[in-house]
Amino acid sequence: MKRVLAGAALAAMAFTGHAHAQQNPQAEAQALELLKRGIAFRTVAGPGNQTPEYAAYLKEQLVAGGFDPADIRIEKLGDTAWLAARYPGTSKTAKPIYISGHMDVVEAKPEDWTRDPFKPIVENGYIFGRGATDMKYDLSTVVATLIQLKREGYRPSRDIILLASGDEETSMKTTAAMAEQYHDAELLLNVDGGGGGLDENGKPEIFGLQGAEKTYADYELTFTNPGGHSSAPGASNAIYSLAHALAKIEAYQFPGEINEITRAGFVQGAKTADPEMARAMRAFLANQQDPKALATLRSEPGLIGQTGTTCVATMVNAGHATNALPQRATANINCRIFPGTSVEAVAATLTKVVGDPELKLKTLDSGSIASPASPLRPDLMKLVAEGIHARFPGVPIVPAMSAGASDSMWFRAKGVPSYGVSPIFMKGSDSFAHGLNERTPLSEIAPSIVYYKFLLKGLTK
Ligand SMILES: [Zn+2]
Repeated sequence: MKRVLAGAALAAMAFTGHAHAQQNPQAEAQALELLKRGIAFRTVAGPGNQTPEYAAYLKEQLVAGGFDPADIRIEKLGDTAWLAARYPGTSKTAKPIYISGHMDVVEAKPEDWTRDPFKPIVENGYIFGRGATDMKYDLSTVVATLIQLKREGYRPSRDIILLASGDEETSMKTTAAMAEQYHDAELLLNVDGGGGGLDENGKPEIFGLQGAEKTYADYELTFTNPGGHSSAPGASNAIYSLAHALAKIEAYQFPGEINEITRAGFVQGAKTADPEMARAMRAFLANQQDPKALATLRSEPGLIGQTGTTCVATMVNAGHATNALPQRATANINCRIFPGTSVEAVAATLTKVVGDPELKLKTLDSGSIASPASPLRPDLMKLVAEGIHARFPGVPIVPAMSAGASDSMWFRAKGVPSYGVSPIFMKGSDSFAHGLNERTPLSEIAPSIVYYKFLLKGLTK
């Protein structure tokens, strides 16, 4: 996961912020070194996965930076591993702050890249490599920040626990395992979510704070039929039954829904959207079932997901011969479920909408879990706003709900309020997370460290 500037984040405003951050030269140099060394570990799921080695390297650096080896755990799981590093606080009773990130990266094929994806290359102010954005950059700056706090002799009031998963991009089994053991925290800062957008001239437009995510679910719809010779068609046909079912699902609209996170997003969006869209946002804020508002908002692919659950057909497979009546027709329906609604409830809705007793509906195992929206804590919102505004005064801070899935959902599902708060601002044209020639400007390192220091100190005063 990375970048959550979705939904109501429609601001197109001009700001003239300048970086006036104090610098942390040792931490900046270390963050760059951690990032370069980090990219060189091929932390991709499957044979040769170097996530355990990367975890061992991070542990070594944390220990060299003043962490007690007894406070760092590395647990292997399958071909990968997770890491937990505890920065002890002075209080024995205050709940810890978690920092969440992941060590694994999406596969990258060297033959498709201009540069070797697992060789860090610094060029024209950018660092290139798989994980340069998602997410060895933030992991490196946050580790360098923790070591900087140690260097300064900082003693937090409560424990800070870094939780780095090892398979966020694939099965999330390490995240689930960590959430099983670490689910008693004041809150969790996910440095793999959030982030700011720059326009193509480098002006900051918006900062998105991820506070909720939708549940991912796949449902397989199947119709079967005895089949037969296509010269003698009967009354029922699996393909026609499936087609009718799909037409009903296409026509069905899930009810409008809102939560604290999307409400704040629409309030912000209504200030900057074009007049028709702004009117629809205000009408939706007043009444989530307003048919005109829903129609307008749902005509916008970037907004439809913010208004409720969506389900859409993504695959079909039917028939076995050109001259035979089909014995089987299946379709996959992919849903992004609004927080608060269960996967089972959507299965029941789809079954009801289709209304055909011949339908067999199966919920596929997607490795996703339903999670509630996290409350918009005023203390955290204030700290994040101050931290971001120190660099870019006035840039709108917009709470966002992403389409899923990040490590946060496993912790939210366990009751830990979780927020995507990465401070990296990037241009749309620089965003290559998961793609070819992934890169991030090096100019983000210094302000990231200033921001993480400010945030962590603010939460552990
Ligand atoms: Zn990620």
